[in-house]
Amino acid sequence: MFLENPEENEPPAIDLASDTFLMSQAMRQAQKAYLAHEVPVGAIIVHGTRIIARASNQVETLKDATAHAEMLALTQAQASFGDWRLTDCDLYVTKEPCPMCAGAILHCRIRRVIFGCGDEKGGAAGGFINLLNQPTLNHSSEVTPGVLAEESKLLLREFFLEARLKKKAGEARNEEAE
Ligand SMILES: [Zn+2]
Repeated sequence: MFLENPEENEPPAIDLASDTFLMSQAMRQAQKAYLAHEVPVGAIIVHGTRIIARASNQVETLKDATAHAEMLALTQAQASFGDWRLTDCDLYVTKEPCPMCAGAILHCRIRRVIFGCGDEKGGAAGGFINLLNQPTLNHSSEVTPGVLAEESKLLLREFFLEARLKKKAGEARNEEAE
């Protein structure tokens, strides 16, 4: 039975299953990466009503070029399931997956991929190629682009701007020292 809201003017409750809410959870992981001086990308994996994995990009921390947020989240989800088949799982990531991550997503048979900002140079979910919907492959994932895209793009832009300024400052110091 549908229960009516007793207070008509109450703001709508947060929909914990909405793409926007779940992407905001992935954004928290991206912010964690940012604070750790990593390229700020975050990912979560959802099964039913549960978040079974949360990860942030850790390439610098782990000194591992494969330690993208999606890869770490997939590993966590497989461990939590005790299975590599993540058939009924959805992956939320703040930036369009690269070809490596898209490949791993397909191998794990993720049902749906929801991403924030697109990446027309390196994105493999429709940006420069679409590995997630290749008719010749034996699995494909449904793709939902552009959820909290602006937020994600701003955080990335801020990170790369700071990285450039830091690099410039370093170069200036080196010139002084010469
Ligand atoms: Zn990747």
